[in-house]
Amino acid sequence: MRIHIHTLGCKVNQFESQAMETMLTDLGHEVTPDETGLDAVIINTCAVTGEAARKSRQAVRHFREQNPGAIIAICGCWSQAEAKSAARLGDIVFGSADRAGLVRALDSALHERACTVRVDDAFSRRSFELLPAGSPEGRTRALLKIEDGCVNFCSYCIIPYTRGRVRSLKTDKCAAEARELAKKGYKEIVLTGIEIASYGSDLPEKPTLAGAVEAVAKAAPECRIRLGSLEPGVVTEDFCRRLSALSNLCPHFHLSLQSGCDRTLDAMRRKYDTARFYESVELLRKYFPNCGITADLITGFPGETDADFDATLKFIEKCAFSSMHVFPYSVREGTVAAKMENQVPKADKHRRARVAAALAKRMKNEFLLSQVGLTTPVLFEQETAPGVWTGHTGNYCQVSARGEKLHNAVVNVQITGVSGGALWGNVLL
Ligand code: SF4
Repeated sequence: MRIHIHTLGCKVNQFESQAMETMLTDLGHEVTPDETGLDAVIINTCAVTGEAARKSRQAVRHFREQNPGAIIAICGCWSQAEAKSAARLGDIVFGSADRAGLVRALDSALHERACTVRVDDAFSRRSFELLPAGSPEGRTRALLKIEDGCVNFCSYCIIPYTRGRVRSLKTDKCAAEARELAKKGYKEIVLTGIEIASYGSDLPEKPTLAGAVEAVAKAAPECRIRLGSLEPGVVTEDFCRRLSALSNLCPHFHLSLQSGCDRTLDAMRRKYDTARFYESVELLRKYFPNCGITADLITGFPGETDADFDATLKFIEKCAFSSMHVFPYSVREGTVAAKMENQVPKADKHRRARVAAALAKRMKNEFLLSQVGLTTPVLFEQETAPGVWTGHTGNYCQVSARGEKLHNAVVNVQITGVSGGALWGNVLL
């Protein structure tokens, strides 16, 4: 049967969609990028913001309209948070757990047209659901989920309610999964999770994220290892010292900033202030010279004044991020921030996002220019024009270069210039 998987949201959702693709392919189904003429669609939804929830609902309606006879299966954080609404729209509804159960339910629905709604209580989950890593298509970069859940309860975030407590994959299993991905021919493994800084806090031996990264790097020495988004508090001297000893670790760190104003960080219930965040930035630059440090930012959080926003601009400029994701704050029902009275007008939230994004663009360009003249290994992912290949450096700059058959090759490239927000270079053979 022909099935399309539509994924919204974060890398954890991407990982789980790839796992469902593998399981469906193993059952003999065809998973296709085509969006019409389908027997079934899985929409893996996101609820991180009100806007993400809206897009999730919209995607479900869109696929229903495009494929009136198809079975519509919904899973992910939005259907976890709003199970009743999802049940009105979908034929099969799961939440953010039990991907294998969803695949089984879809497989039997395709044969018997039976509908299933199964959404658990996220807080009752105690174990990590081990899913097949990698994708049947054999891409260059594999996601490896090592952690699920979050108990930080940031005031704007619904995720702790949709994903439940922290559950971690044991360190030896992380290493074994990484070994399997290396054997399949992947050249890069991205360690991902909902909040990987909390990795291990649920396990009796209390393993650390640094220990898991060391185990993975050792198990897959032929792969580059990249870390997913980090809470800044996990970046300590010990963490940096241990990770800098790993020759295959990518010098790229994505730190979750959200605001560069201490008053706003406090209202967000983040667990650091700008001084602690900057300490992480300095430690990373001390141990990983020329690393790429990227960050997320929310503009127009309730109570954020123009002066607070100016403080944020000054702070992000001081951090000199190599790239940023900037989002205007979007109200998420069910969170503490949604009930705050001092909501910022939409026009201000969006104006501030544009201003921050322009600064981020300038900083990115400065970082790219600083790479010109360097020679660096690039993992090439795709041919973007005849004879032109595009990939990424270890510090996560996009690079294009002329060459032949570079797919999934890690090759030294001399960086020659910057164009269109990316690097150009010459392949050194
Ligand atoms: S750390 Fe905060 S923002 Fe991130 S998932 Fe947990 S609650 Fe949400």
